Amino acid sequence: MDAACIYVAVGVYQFGSKKLTMPKMNCKYSDRPEMEREWLEENTWCDDCGKPDLGMNPGREYEENGRTFVEGVCKVCGCTVRSEIITKIIRPEDLV
Ligand SMILES: [Zn+2]
Repeated sequence: MDAACIYVAVGVYQFGSKKLTMPKMNCKYSDRPEMEREWLEENTWCDDCGKPDLGMNPGREYEENGRTFVEGVCKVCGCTVRSEIITKIIRPEDLV
């Protein structure tokens, strides 16, 4: 059965200088389609600016506690911004 994957970035995860456990690194971000990366880089939330969609210069993607994040640098203030990537499997019968 064909299933479409839809990636939704929820851009509300900005940890700043708070303590974080060491994330597990991987290199999947560069494997994502260009359109998807552009979308992720445009749909951001920066805590320091307090504004959405300022854009970021992408850095990396990693998994932490079973969740996937993409991390980059705010194009306006240069702070770290993170977005969680939520993958939902949509079956054709769910779209009716
Ligand atoms: Zn910012």
